[in-house]
Amino acid sequence: MKKQSKIVLIWNSVKSSKSFSLSQGKLIGLTLVVVLVFAGITTIAINAFSNSFYAAKLLRLQKNNSKLVGTIYDMQNRIKQMESELHVLTEKDRALRTYADIPLIDKDVRKLGVGGRYNFQSDELDNLLPKEDVELSSLANDLDRLTREIKLERISYEEIYNAIKHRSPQIRSTPSIRPVNTGYISDGYGYRKDPFTGMKRFHYGIDISAPTGTPVYATADGVVRSTNFSRTFGRIIKIDHGYGYSTYYAHLSKMLVKPGEVVKRGQKIAEVGCTGRSTASHLHYEVRQNGINKNPLDYYFTGYIR
Ligand SMILES: [Zn+2]
Repeated sequence: MKKQSKIVLIWNSVKSSKSFSLSQGKLIGLTLVVVLVFAGITTIAINAFSNSFYAAKLLRLQKNNSKLVGTIYDMQNRIKQMESELHVLTEKDRALRTYADIPLIDKDVRKLGVGGRYNFQSDELDNLLPKEDVELSSLANDLDRLTREIKLERISYEEIYNAIKHRSPQIRSTPSIRPVNTGYISDGYGYRKDPFTGMKRFHYGIDISAPTGTPVYATADGVVRSTNFSRTFGRIIKIDHGYGYSTYYAHLSKMLVKPGEVVKRGQKIAEVGCTGRSTASHLHYEVRQNGINKNPLDYYFTGYIR
């Protein structure tokens, strides 16, 4: 006869008592079902939790990513701007070398200095970003090229400076600094609408807006030719620098030099004002070479006034 063991469960209460009996097989079966159901519920719960966790993480990563892509676009634009600024410097370099009478930088030398092998593993870098139109490697290469261009330009400017620093008095006679240290250009050289008549007229100098009393400096060594008052230009100083150069400073409030006086570059000669035909306090500044007006901005070797 097969031996059977049973488990008997007995409930006792005030009113009644009940008893259940389970065979060992049934008990094991029941336990298995309970364990399976519990395991199932736990798995579903964990899945649901980790899904929502990863969804949140993915969203965060996507946001970060689009920010990163935006930053890189921004950097690419800024590099483009720097390249065009550098292009202006390169052109100035050519002009300076012509003035200084030293050879221009050879095109091949420029290429050698600027070109060359790229040091960056493009694939590795590009794989960092999901978007195909953003190339991190080209950004790195652009920066690398820009750095080398700047270095070449710096060396070139040093060479120019060394060539001209003890050069002839012609350099000291060439207008080459700002006539005022502050202010901004309110009117440039060239055609413009006349502020009084509204007619199109050629403006032979630049107007630099600055408060009355702002010091005005001689832009090169020279001799004061005249200090006059005219209805158009108000108080006006004309300086002869030699080598065909002369400069004009108009609408002055004060004139601090006399005709025939020798002046040095950077010497204070007057103060900005609003005399003559002028709507607001400003300096009208002209540069002439052999009597022909030149754009004064071409004579600021030390920087631009903004
Ligand atoms: Zn003017």
